[in-house]
Amino acid sequence: MKLPTRSKSYMIPEYSLTGDLLSYITCGLQYRYQNKGTLPPSKPVQRWFGEFIHGVMEEAYLNWKYQKKEFPWDWKEDIRPIEDEIDLRLQVRGLYPHDEDLFFSINQPGSDLNIEDLNEHDHKKLASARAEKAINLWGKHLFPLIDASEILIKGVRPMPNYDKNISRSNYYGINGVVDVITSAKINTLHEQSTLYNYDNKIISFIKKNLEETDIEDYEIIIDYKGMKRPPVKVTKPHSEDKWENHKQQILTYSWLRSKQENAKAISAGIILYLNELVPSKEDLVLIKDEIANDLTDIPDNGEFGDDIQLIFDWQEDEKMPNLSEEFKIARSIRFIEINEEERVKALDKFDRVVCDIENSLIKEMKGCKIQDAWKADADERTCLACDFKTFCKNNSDITKDFKVP
Ligand code: SF4
Repeated sequence: MKLPTRSKSYMIPEYSLTGDLLSYITCGLQYRYQNKGTLPPSKPVQRWFGEFIHGVMEEAYLNWKYQKKEFPWDWKEDIRPIEDEIDLRLQVRGLYPHDEDLFFSINQPGSDLNIEDLNEHDHKKLASARAEKAINLWGKHLFPLIDASEILIKGVRPMPNYDKNISRSNYYGINGVVDVITSAKINTLHEQSTLYNYDNKIISFIKKNLEETDIEDYEIIIDYKGMKRPPVKVTKPHSEDKWENHKQQILTYSWLRSKQENAKAISAGIILYLNELVPSKEDLVLIKDEIANDLTDIPDNGEFGDDIQLIFDWQEDEKMPNLSEEFKIARSIRFIEINEEERVKALDKFDRVVCDIENSLIKEMKGCKIQDAWKADADERTCLACDFKTFCKNNSDITKDFKVP
């Protein structure tokens, strides 16, 4: 008697929107070494801060939800313990901040410091300053509107260019994590804010940007980014078009969310670029350049004249100018309307990215060398901060300087 054999296990490759797709778009080879290899990056500042600020906002929201503590929150008493917790979670995953970004000595083995020893002047560094502003400037407007936080959204799509003799699977999975706010909460809070003459900045922003809709029940997706507002146009070679990629990310999230059972119609997405609340010198140099070359949408039409003047008068070796809160708030928030046609284009684009990743993986599985199988192409900033620049074959000028002789 012939015994039946067990059929081959059926696995669908799973891709995360930020961890895989956006990361691959930044640089395919860096993505391969960081995500598909076992090499945690030594100081992935962008990644550390992105994950740190996401974690801080989520944890701050949960604290606010259960304790309803009024804003503004005190850095040492209310915010620093959250930072500490998130920092420890990231350390477990091998992600560490630069010393100038976060005071983390109390987490070090052998440290005899505790929270009482900290003071704002000596210990509050860039990441802490941003966390404090993000919570006190945006948290107080945003948290009361959140209906569900950290929702895992997942979907399945046909594998692009599927070939049963070559492809790993006929489908691929795609996932992301989002916060959502709902029209029910927006409307209730809007009535209260009108009654008590209180301006909720998120509601005002939505009312200004969202076209009149007949749909009563809708949702808006929220995403936080630990970076400055990207330029609306890319002018340098090898530069990633972050403006467009972030829009496509939100459109893809909206498609994934629409597949969930309890989802309502999705009208828009809001991205909060949290570095804008406390820009670094490096950020301000880029902001100055983008304003001068008409590469940014904020300021627009002669708005914020005083802030623009301060930025143009400022030199890199000087103290940072005192920019207005309105300017920082305007630059830190972005509205993305959901449109079916654009959504189809975004999904097509992500299909193409998955197709590229799968092709590189298959090449590698067939014996091709890693550096020949994966595309190495990134902008100067990414290459300079990359752990693999010393042996990367990318022949851009920036990496040539770092090549091993
Ligand atoms: S040096 Fe630049 S091109 Fe090479 S892997 Fe790193 S980011 Fe990619």
